[in-house]
Formats: sequence, structure tokens, C-alpha cells
Amino acid sequence: MAPSTSPAAPEARPQPAVFFGHGSPMNALEENRYTKAWRNFGATVPVPRAILVVSAHWYINATAVTAMARPRTIHDFYGFPKPLFDVQYPAPGSPELAEEIADVVQPTHVGLDHDSWGIDHGTWSVLVHAFPKADIPVVQLSIHAQRDFDAHFELGMRLAPLRDRGVLIVGSGNVVHNLRALNWSAPEAAFDWNKRFDETARSALTEAPSRVPALQAHPDYKMSSPTPDHFIPLLYIAGLAEAAGRPLKSLVDGYAYGSLSMASYTLDAECPVETGDTRAAAEFPDPAIVPPDDTNV
Ligand code: ZN
Repeated sequence: MAPSTSPAAPEARPQPAVFFGHGSPMNALEENRYTKAWRNFGATVPVPRAILVVSAHWYINATAVTAMARPRTIHDFYGFPKPLFDVQYPAPGSPELAEEIADVVQPTHVGLDHDSWGIDHGTWSVLVHAFPKADIPVVQLSIHAQRDFDAHFELGMRLAPLRDRGVLIVGSGNVVHNLRALNWSAPEAAFDWNKRFDETARSALTEAPSRVPALQAHPDYKMSSPTPDHFIPLLYIAGLAEAAGRPLKSLVDGYAYGSLSMASYTLDAECPVETGDTRAAAEFPDPAIVPPDDTNV
């Protein structure tokens, strides 16, 4: 007599999640201590079925996912050298995963985007290092600009089941990101307010991720994030950590040009963190040529 049920599958480990502090898009073309950490991460995690990215650079008045089979590479910045505009990240999309995401986050409504977005530089500037073959399907989830921090954190929690289905979830932004305050002469420096906020955020992320949405009330938050777009991807990864019941671990720490934090964090990744590499993060264009607010990064 045939068994009525198949033997239970061994319990699969959830896919890791990660927040990448992406900094200048020029990091896509350079090798430094940050890109090395991103590369280590991608090289050591189990190969995911697909990658879902919440990028600072898809900040719109809706919650949407890219649902096209062949997403285009978007060069959503100005004033950078031509080789950056030549970068392509030809990963396939995954219309199936887009549908799955829409299902898993109900009752939040998620629009399926077939033709407006693609893979923006918040995504490809890190994935060219973490997954250089561009052979794993990539889907982006937009940031709804009208939702508050608690809503983004909760939406992050609701994405957790995807990790058990082989989906690697990435947040790409910066814990501290103030382009108006950049100090071009200090590639690895940090203003005091940057350090204070970054260190408070590190404590929350690595000890109690449920505290992350309340960082908006920190006295240095407004200086650290004059606009919330680069901070919000962190709320999704903190939400996943909260859902898992485990805090995040630091992947790489550091500062760039006074007003950026280059910190990255992982969840459930066995990944070497200290590489001994001391090279600084990539530069921004000369402010005499293009003002930072006009670079759209
Ligand atoms: Zn950016």
C-alpha cells in the first residue's frame, strides 16, 4: 500500500535579508571595502530563487511591484561619468513573484507595474557586486511616499513568508543620507550628528528592531534624513527581523563625506564581516559641475 502522505520535507532555512548602504552610484564601478562586503554577502548566501528589492529610488504615491519579464536597467541620476550610464544589469524579472507579493501583503493593495519602472540604480549599484552574473530574477517593490514609518515596518513584516519560499529580500538606501551637507574633502569622515544617529540606529537594529520606526523622533533624524527615501528601506529589513524574532547583524560600517552612513546589515546570513579592506567609498561628481541636489542620488 502506498503511503498516503509523502515524507515531510526537511525544514528549509529562510533566505537571508539584507540592507545595503549604497552611497554614491559610482560604487557600482569601483572596488572598496563596502563593495567587497556586498560581494562577500552574495558569494556566501544560498542561491535564492529570486531577489526582491526595496530601493530608495522608487519613491512614488503607490505601492507597486515590477511585474515585467524583462525589466530595463534605469539610469536615474545626472552628472555622473558616461561609464555609469553604460552599466546594464540584465537580470530577468518574475511576473510570478510579483503576483505572490501582491497576495502575501493583503489587505495592502499592490499594483502590478508592467511598463513604468525596472531596475533602478539603488538596486543595480549593489547587485552588480553581490550578484554579478545578473542571472537571478529581480523584482522591485516601490515605497509609498504617503505611508508612515509604522506602515512600512508592518509591510516588511508581512513579506516574511517569502523568505521561506526562497526569496532574498534586499533594502537599498542609507541609514544617514544628507547630500546638501556633503564634505567633498573628507571621504571617510562623519559629522557628529551623523555618528550619533548612526550609532543609535545600530543599537536598535542589532538589539531591538521594533525600535527602528521610532528613530524618526531622534533629535538628529531630520539632519540625517532631510528626505525619508533612503531611510525607509531599512524599515522593511527591520520588520523582517522583528517577524523572525532575531535582530540584524552588522555587515560593514563606515562613513562617507561627512553626511553619509555606509552601514549595511544582514538577517540570517553566515557571512564574513571583516575583510581588512580600508578603501573609502566612491565619490560624487564635483559640486562645481553638478550641485548634489541635482544628481538625484
Ligand atoms: Zn541613493
